[in-house]
This record gives sequence, C-alpha cells and structure tokens, in this order.
Amino acid sequence: IGGHPTPQAGPTKPAGVARILAVGSGKGGVGKSTVSSNLAVALARQGRRVGLLDADIYGPSQPRMMGTSKRPASPDGKTIIPLQAHGVTMMSIGLMMDPDKAVVWRGPMLMGALQQMLGQVQWGELDVLIVDLPPGTGDVQLTLCQKTVLEGAIVVSTPQDVALLDARKAIDMFNTLKTPILGLIENMSSFHCPNCGHESHIFGHGGVAAEAEKMGVPLLAELPIDLDTRLAGDSGTPVAAGDGPVADAYAALAKKLIG
Ligand code: ADP
Repeated sequence: IGGHPTPQAGPTKPAGVARILAVGSGKGGVGKSTVSSNLAVALARQGRRVGLLDADIYGPSQPRMMGTSKRPASPDGKTIIPLQAHGVTMMSIGLMMDPDKAVVWRGPMLMGALQQMLGQVQWGELDVLIVDLPPGTGDVQLTLCQKTVLEGAIVVSTPQDVALLDARKAIDMFNTLKTPILGLIENMSSFHCPNCGHESHIFGHGGVAAEAEKMGVPLLAELPIDLDTRLAGDSGTPVAAGDGPVADAYAALAKKLIG
C-alpha cells in the first residue's frame, strides 16, 4: 500500500568471481559441452582458478564429461558446495535432478534454478566461471544475460548449413541482449584419417570462419572430429587433460581468451 516500487536489481556476479564466460550454440550436439569442459580444464592447467557451471537443463552432460556425479553437499541447508574435477570447480544443474527424468520446467523455475546455481553455490575465488548454456535462445540464456555481469559469450557451431542457421540465431540473441560475442568456434571442422592421414571435411569447412568475418568477431578455433575427444568425453577425463594436438588446440584457445 503506497510506498515506492522496489527498484529492479541490476545485473550481479558471485562475489569472488572475476569474470563469467558463456558458451552457447544454436543447436544441440555440436560440441558446446565438450568445448566448455575442455576449455575449463585447459585454463586450469595454465594455473587459472576455473569454475564450470553446467546450465544445460535439457542435457546436462558435465557430470559425465568431467567424471564426477556425486550429489553436492549443503551442510548449512542454504549454500551448496561445488565438486572438484581435473582442477576445476564444477556444478551441474543435472546433479540436482533425477538423471532419468525429462525436464518439463517452466521459465520461472528455470530462472530460479540458474540463479540458485550462481548465488548459492560456494564458488569461492575464481579467475573465470564458464557457463555451459542450453542450446538455442530460451529462458536460461535470457536470465543469464540480463541478470549477471557477463564478460561475453562464445558460440560453438559445426560447419554445415543447418547448424550455422541456428548459430546465427544464437549470435543474434547475444547481440540483442548486448552481450559481447568473444568469438566463434568451428567444431568438427575436419577429420584426419588415422590410417592414411587424409583430411576430409565431413560437415563442410569454413562456414563458421565466413560467418565470423561477416560479423567482425574472431574465429577462436577450428577443432577436428576426433575419436579421442569423444572417448575422453564419455570416460570423464576431457582430452585437454592429456597431451596431443587437440589438447594443444584447447591450450591455445584458453590463452586467446584469457591471456
Ligand atoms: P552439445 O553440448 O552441443 O550438445 P556435446 O559436447 O554434448 O554437444 O557433444 C555431442 C557428442 O559429440 C558427444 O558425444 C561428444 O563427445 C561428441 N563430440 C563433440 N565434439 C567432438 C569432436 N570434435 N570430435 C569427436 N566427437 C565430438
């Protein structure tokens, strides 16, 4: 009755977190989670204090990819202690859900869950928090861009037209929300035959580079289709934790983003 309307809270960021990077995509299955986990591990190997927040409500894959699926503890019943894996502080919305149940949450519930992940998880002091977004342009992306202070977003796409078409929509969303786009990543860009060494472009090649040039944003990496990447993701030790050309590519990506 009377009084003043409560002022809208401006965008926030967990207290000890220096910067938040979002990893998005237009489509599912293009390797957004793979890139998020490997980038996190590569940054950790370079001595950064890294957090990884799996906000992919429809397919939370970080517990599997990072090899940890314990239910996080909440000793005080208010805050949540995140997990640790491969030098990364990790929390997944999947750890709060029944893994075999489909998610039919509505917008406000999704927003509540995301804000809980950001506000109630004890992230501690981090140089960077990487947020693995759901694919597409929905409520989670909106909430993250509007309610948190984001350093920027990375958009992952595969080279074929159907993926690029949707990637453009994700890019457009970040532009509309005034979230800086730090660059694009072409995943599954090429395939090197392990037997004969021949390089083929199964999904085409160069589409993401052309898109990046058109928009005037950097092409951050072109990552190959690689059996070890898939096996590593399935086994819970990201390929960036080991050695080899793909681990090197992730190390270079990490340096580019946070030199
Ligand atoms: P998204 O997060 O976009 O849905 P994921 O990261 O879950 O996609 O990747 C989907 C599947 O493709 C996973 O099994 C993953 O291991 C595999 N994958 C992703 N990137 C590559 C790659 N460059 N080479 C081989 N397999 C990959």
